[in-house]
Amino acid sequence: MNKTNINTDVIIVGGGVSGLILSILLKEKNVDHVVLDRVEKRKTLEIPETLPPSALVLLESLNLLELFKKSSSKTFGYHSIWNSNILITDNFFDHNPYKYGLKLNKKELLNDLGELVRDHVIQFNHINEVDRSDKNVTVKVESNNTLQTINGRVIVDATGRNRAILKLLGVTTESFDNQVALSCHVPYFKHPKLIHRVFVESFENGWGIVSSLNEQINGITLYTQKGSSILPQLKDYRNWKELLSNTKLLKDFLTDDRNRKVVGGNANSSRASQVTGSNWLAIGDAAIAFDPVSSHGISNAIYCTYLASNAIESHVTNNTTSPFQNYDDTICQIFNEYLKQQSKLYDTDNRW
Ligand SMILES: Cc1cc2nc3c(=O)[nH]c(=O)nc-3n(C[C@H](O)[C@H](O)[C@H](O)COP(=O)(O)OP(=O)(O)OC[C@H]3O[C@@H](n4cnc5c(N)ncnc54)[C@H](O)[C@@H]3O)c2cc1C
Repeated sequence: MNKTNINTDVIIVGGGVSGLILSILLKEKNVDHVVLDRVEKRKTLEIPETLPPSALVLLESLNLLELFKKSSSKTFGYHSIWNSNILITDNFFDHNPYKYGLKLNKKELLNDLGELVRDHVIQFNHINEVDRSDKNVTVKVESNNTLQTINGRVIVDATGRNRAILKLLGVTTESFDNQVALSCHVPYFKHPKLIHRVFVESFENGWGIVSSLNEQINGITLYTQKGSSILPQLKDYRNWKELLSNTKLLKDFLTDDRNRKVVGGNANSSRASQVTGSNWLAIGDAAIAFDPVSSHGISNAIYCTYLASNAIESHVTNNTTSPFQNYDDTICQIFNEYLKQQSKLYDTDNRW
């Protein structure tokens, strides 16, 4: 096996939105770094994701708005029926200063972000070892018959809900619920009662969202709690018609063909019990992960990443840990505020 050695200041693990945006921000600050991007073997189902108008202000302040717009389409609102029979419409033209949100093409977005920092990204297949002392970190990764040893001063966990580096550091996860998501693709259908292409409806034991991926495909995701009596049936699309038969509009999006692949995953609110240490940080979902009902997962991940980039710059330049402690405190405040907002939403809900 071939061997290579790299010395750098910051090792970012994870090539999602958080990891790549951190790389872009550190590049602007001339902070030496690499992004370790795992070659994804699993085929995942593309899930439609939306950014609300409020997120666009943040993107503009980071000079990323045009890049996000390039791989997205504009969306002008959404509809919901939440714990009642009333259809509510949120029109984004009431919002300021941006009167639209973005429906992301995540694959294209990640490609475009990756292009900006191509020289910093190292693709790998497998992490062999992470060795950390208070001053240094060494990561050994394997890719195409090459063992790469990367030595750095700071390591960043940007591996999303997997929290791969935190697990290796022995940091635990605190979960606040057991929500899981089950998603599938169905042919695009424009509901005659709806103007916008995003619709949310709650039902007994859960809630669902339909959002178009493009002119051919609607993505439907149903959410319930682990342990719910309907979870085993939700894993099989053939049961969805019956399970959603009491919904007002959600059921109309289902098709009669019965062989649709359902892909599941965690969608609970969770946080790392610690988001920083003397020379490590967690960003994005690895630090704090939101319930998708908030539709603020990505904007939160970007905001965390922006804060982390400033903390890392100060740490690397001045060699003090106080910027990390400040980052930790702010992340804690953001998550506490999020929990308050989330419990307000579910408190209006008397289904469970
Ligand atoms: C069903 C669902 C629907 C959602 N809808 C929305 C929405 O509409 N709007 C919104 O704003 N947010 C939404 N979110 C949340 C949003 O997807 C996340 O908040 C966002 O993707 C977090 O970005 P991230 O970069 O922190 O993590 P991720 O996007 O999870 O990226 C993590 C990266 O790390 C890599 N990785 C994982 N494990 C390892 C490892 N062991 N070694 C190396 N690399 C690893 C992964 O391959 C990936 O590239 C949704 C979430 C779910 C689950």
